[in-house]
Amino acid sequence: MKGTALVTGILIAALSFSTGTIHAAPDEKESQERMALYKKTSAVTDIPWEYLAAVDQYERQVHDDPDEGRVTAIEFDPVFWSGSSDAFPSAVSPNGWGSDGNGDEKADIHNDEDVLWSLGRYIKSFGTTEDDIKIALFQYYKRDLTVQTIMHSAEVFRKFKTVHLTNRDFPLPKQYNYSYRSTWGDARGFGGRRIHEGTDIFAGYGVPVKSTTYGVVEMKGWNTYGGWRIGIRDIYNIYHYYAHLQNFSKEIKVGDVVQPGDVIGAVGASGYGPPGTSGKFPPHLHYGMYQDNGKNEWSFDPYPFLRRWERMAE
Ligand SMILES: [Zn+2]
Repeated sequence: MKGTALVTGILIAALSFSTGTIHAAPDEKESQERMALYKKTSAVTDIPWEYLAAVDQYERQVHDDPDEGRVTAIEFDPVFWSGSSDAFPSAVSPNGWGSDGNGDEKADIHNDEDVLWSLGRYIKSFGTTEDDIKIALFQYYKRDLTVQTIMHSAEVFRKFKTVHLTNRDFPLPKQYNYSYRSTWGDARGFGGRRIHEGTDIFAGYGVPVKSTTYGVVEMKGWNTYGGWRIGIRDIYNIYHYYAHLQNFSKEIKVGDVVQPGDVIGAVGASGYGPPGTSGKFPPHLHYGMYQDNGKNEWSFDPYPFLRRWERMAE
């Protein structure tokens, strides 16, 4: 029964995705435990705590089943940990980077203090400036999007001075008239045979559009299909895409840290043509969500999250 197994597999993947990834928001006690470990390690390695926190946060999203009983989610490559002349030249890593951080004279790849201390020690070998840290991360992950995500999460943590960032907002103010329904995966009216990768929230021209999450503005500008659109990556490796805007908020620019409720633009009907084209369809906000797992990025249905954030919003 290959077909059944496949369907079951997809269902399990979908379930673990929705519970494991999106609902990964920690409770306050967990956040405090993490913060204590980051700060302790930061004090002995000189690496600002927010970078240790951001690596941990990134790893939390890319592993399917975090180790039971662990405070951090960092899972090092065993070769990186114990050393190998094949993957890491001996000059870079004579015996691997794993080392003892908690004083029990063992370098345990499953021990949080050992893991964080080793991470800090590895990064420090490159230096402690932002550029040094970027290079250290790239040498380890070999992926630009991963490095960018971690650097951005670190900025968010630094700005808000905590990893406990659980607030969310609905993208439109609830006092305005709007309507939306679940259409993710439908065929599009425009744009050829691509499926609809988002939820359309219909509202009048000029209704404010707000960030739903904590994150960093990764992209802002014109796209033939999306019109004036803006992309924000959050601390959960999720990219939030807001399209067809009438305009952007004056002060918003690429690289800005945002929080739930920050106004980023206004509802419009821009797109489906060269820059400035507007009015080819009724005004609406196209809202898309894309998950990155460290290898690929894929679209998933924002509708259930929009419903939840709408209930949470004032
Ligand atoms: Zn749409």
